Amino acid sequence: MAAAECCLVSPTPISIWAPFGALFHLINKKRYIRKSQRVLSEASDTQYSFYSVRLMPPRSSGIPKDETMRKKAVIVFSGGQDSTTCLIHALPKYDEIHCITFDYGQRHRAEIEAARELAQALGVTAHTVLDLKLLNELTVSSLTRDNIPVPIANEAGIEVPNTFIPGRNILFLTFASIYAYQVQAQTVITGVCETDFSGYPDCRDDFVKALNSAIKLGMDYQLQFETPLMWLTKSETWALAEYHGQLELVREHTLSCYNGIKGSGCGECDACSLRSKGLNEFLKNKKRFMNSMRYRLSLT
Ligand code: ZN
Repeated sequence: MAAAECCLVSPTPISIWAPFGALFHLINKKRYIRKSQRVLSEASDTQYSFYSVRLMPPRSSGIPKDETMRKKAVIVFSGGQDSTTCLIHALPKYDEIHCITFDYGQRHRAEIEAARELAQALGVTAHTVLDLKLLNELTVSSLTRDNIPVPIANEAGIEVPNTFIPGRNILFLTFASIYAYQVQAQTVITGVCETDFSGYPDCRDDFVKALNSAIKLGMDYQLQFETPLMWLTKSETWALAEYHGQLELVREHTLSCYNGIKGSGCGECDACSLRSKGLNEFLKNKKRFMNSMRYRLSLT
């Protein structure tokens, strides 16, 4: 199988050329945004190609031994606002990005096609859709059963909502870790968030850290889980998309809605409610949320 060829980033050292570097970066960024928007508009007319990845045999050492030491990351990628923003944030930081999308027979399975289009538009060359239908068979939830209605936002009460799928993030992160081991990636990125979340226990920082420790022990592999959105509010997540010049792409082309509607969605489910509330707050006070997002992520 052919090795995956992915996104290349060349860090620029600080020097007297820094102002020119910044200008060059700005021009390049604008080109990149234009290109991603053009590709996205063409994506629905083209057949998306899957790229084969090079799977490595097991090693005796727990240290990744990549022959070129390329920085590689695997992203759990649903095509929603959070994982897409994570991808946009990660692209300049890694030499190679692998997106994994899970098909578990979800009600909002249109997100899989959205993920394909977005990965292509953003220039990701390794995107894999993994079949996880067994999860659908095992779990009863409004996201895995059509005869269970998705709750209207704010009507779910204080209990875990019926959109919760027990074990979902445990499985997603475990499969992503297996994949990362095989392609010798050092990092797994997930867009889970403890600040503005729907009450899912597997979005909490304690859980992610505990599973990361278990994976390191169980695979004898120094894999790091990254959760850039963990302490951001939804408004700050929108600010992060704006920071990277991709607010409109995330706003128009991602799919977070539990009822499978792209963009602003159905407007009624919990996912749509969180998304639109965060966006409205961000648009009302961009400067404030840009500053707080920069502070939390230590961005300049
Ligand atoms: Zn919705």
